[in-house]
Amino acid sequence: MARLSGYQSRGVLHPQEAGALRKAASRLFAGQNKAETCRWMNREGYRTTFGNEWVPEVLTRVLSHPRMAGLDSDGNPIEDFGATVLTPDEYRRVLALFAEQRSQQPEAREAFEYLLTDGEAECGSCQHAMVGTRVTGDADPSYRCPPPRARQPSCGRVRMNADRLEDSVTEEVLAELLRPGAQEHLARLLADIRAEAERLKEHIAGAEKRFEELRNMRNVLVAAAYAAAEKATKDDLRQSRNRLRFLEQMTDLPIDGVTNLVEWWNSAPRSSQRALVCVEIAKVRVLAVGRGRHRDPSERIEIEWRT
Ligand SMILES: [Zn+2]
Repeated sequence: MARLSGYQSRGVLHPQEAGALRKAASRLFAGQNKAETCRWMNREGYRTTFGNEWVPEVLTRVLSHPRMAGLDSDGNPIEDFGATVLTPDEYRRVLALFAEQRSQQPEAREAFEYLLTDGEAECGSCQHAMVGTRVTGDADPSYRCPPPRARQPSCGRVRMNADRLEDSVTEEVLAELLRPGAQEHLARLLADIRAEAERLKEHIAGAEKRFEELRNMRNVLVAAAYAAAEKATKDDLRQSRNRLRFLEQMTDLPIDGVTNLVEWWNSAPRSSQRALVCVEIAKVRVLAVGRGRHRDPSERIEIEWRT
């Protein structure tokens, strides 16, 4: 479990990080945007607790954390908390500023592009794929296990705010990419994916021949057996095409020659970020909220890395 930036432990400040976060808040109050503030932090050598460069999503998450001001998740002071990075007043100003910035970009919010809706996010209770959704039209985007329906045995009980889920996953993916050998590992994963895509293309190209062979057997098969065989061949072709489309989103990843993956991530279009996450991660399991636990979003996810 990652510790919260700014603190060595509860109520005990990490002096450099706390100083950096306070200065970052001052810069935001002075009108700098999040990207400018992150660039300043990175230039000064400040890093997240994972050792990553700062990105706006992570800065937002850290500064929005109630413990920045020694508060609990309901906004009440935690007794005997100790030193805090921000005062409660500063913390409320930060939240108000972030809320104002969000309200100024309604269009961007409308067109929210989910990072994990190609089946990577899975309900931790029932294993069903989670879908991106808003509870109401102007609510924040979230991931949820869809309500159960006929022939869909999902539980519908697990939900997580999209920002919280995606920021946690992003942070862990970027940390993974900073490990020694990460670039080679990524290259190998991509090579495996390209090889699978090639095999699928050949398989798909052979479909016409398979249908023809099947038609030649029409007279020797009973009608029901022929229909079943034809359906199986069609289903196989459809699944192969879907899988190939999914793989091709990843094989296009424009990562060759990139040396600073964090920098790349910060300016990459959403489709490329999504591709990178798909290459690195097989599944993200989203756990149901335990009673009073999981204050930190990263405690609610389990990542299954591709090997
Ligand atoms: Zn479920």
